[in-house]
Amino acid sequence: MEHICTPKATIAIHGKSISQRQQCLENDDPTAHAVVESVRLLKKLRLRPQQVKDCRVYVEQGICPMCAAALRNYHIECVVIHQQEVEISRFYFQNIK
Ligand SMILES: [Zn+2]
Repeated sequence: MEHICTPKATIAIHGKSISQRQQCLENDDPTAHAVVESVRLLKKLRLRPQQVKDCRVYVEQGICPMCAAALRNYHIECVVIHQQEVEISRFYFQNIK
């Protein structure tokens, strides 16, 4: 089965990095994408959106709209795909007003 969303995401924050893998099968949870799991971990670590807004999210492949929305809702504005920074609002939500 081909992944339509990155299987791994790494968030660089405050000099440390947090990596999560997609866990849909393991958790029997179709929303357990790598980026969503990373956002859940930030929440579990009690890092508020104001504390993470300048962090960078590094992914191996592109991300799906659900993951983009999770980042945007946590006020993370930028994802790095193949060493290229992508502004989430501009790339994923350009047609939504
Ligand atoms: Zn996703």
